[in-house]
Amino acid sequence: SCHLFRSSHPFSIRLQKPMAMATVSTDPVREWILSEGKASQITGISPVGGGCINLASRYNTDAGSFFVKTNRSIGPEMFEGEALGLRAMYETKSIRVPQPFKVGALPTGGSYIIMEFIEFGSSRGDQSLLGRKLAEMHKATKSENGQRLVKNLGALFEDVTIEPCLLHGDLWSGNISSDKNGEPMDIMKQNSECHGVPVSEARSTMPILRRDVYLLYHYLNHYNLFGSGYRSSAMSIIDDYLRMLKA
Ligand code: ADP
Repeated sequence: SCHLFRSSHPFSIRLQKPMAMATVSTDPVREWILSEGKASQITGISPVGGGCINLASRYNTDAGSFFVKTNRSIGPEMFEGEALGLRAMYETKSIRVPQPFKVGALPTGGSYIIMEFIEFGSSRGDQSLLGRKLAEMHKATKSENGQRLVKNLGALFEDVTIEPCLLHGDLWSGNISSDKNGEPMDIMKQNSECHGVPVSEARSTMPILRRDVYLLYHYLNHYNLFGSGYRSSAMSIIDDYLRMLKA
């Protein structure tokens, strides 16, 4: 949200007639609202002002209102992040946040998020209640499994003497080739492709117990840089360790 532009939109669109269901729709927002959103008609769409980045709209339907944001150029990763954050907050059942329903790509490029529409009151509400609810949310946030692992990681390093060693920092298939005699070589070329890394041999020299901790580091790093595709790999390593450490 951006307070500088917080003004209501100068116009609003009212649809005279409900959208004919027979119309072939290529609009995934409408499609979701009219299927999983359990609406049988969209009775009006009005722009909502106040945002900084996206185009925001209120969709009125016979199944209530939906709040929709679209972005014409940024892919769904941005809204996936927003939905992830909202869902995490929503699930604490503490501070009131809209329930995120659906994120997706627009056929014309860009992306959308559909969430619960919240009818705002006219004031900022009770500020001390806000403070209490926020504190409740902070406390309700269960130490994510990752943090539990961090607390228990010490057990994996008991009786280990850590000695520094030279380590390749970017070993993956894009950086590996061979010379004309077939001798493998590291070419460190920058390449946007990312295939599986054929380094089981290199990995196998690492103490097996801690091997996946290092793998986890890279999954988390990739999750951070490239998005949700790496999440489940990271989570499954975390869960495996938690089970193994009985943490
Ligand atoms: P942006 O992503 O462009 O920053 P916001 O998330 O700030 O957009 O949303 C734009 C405006 O829409 C907000 O300032 C607020 O007034 C309104 N708004 C945001 N979320 C909801 C919601 N769930 N229900 C109703 N109105 C909302």
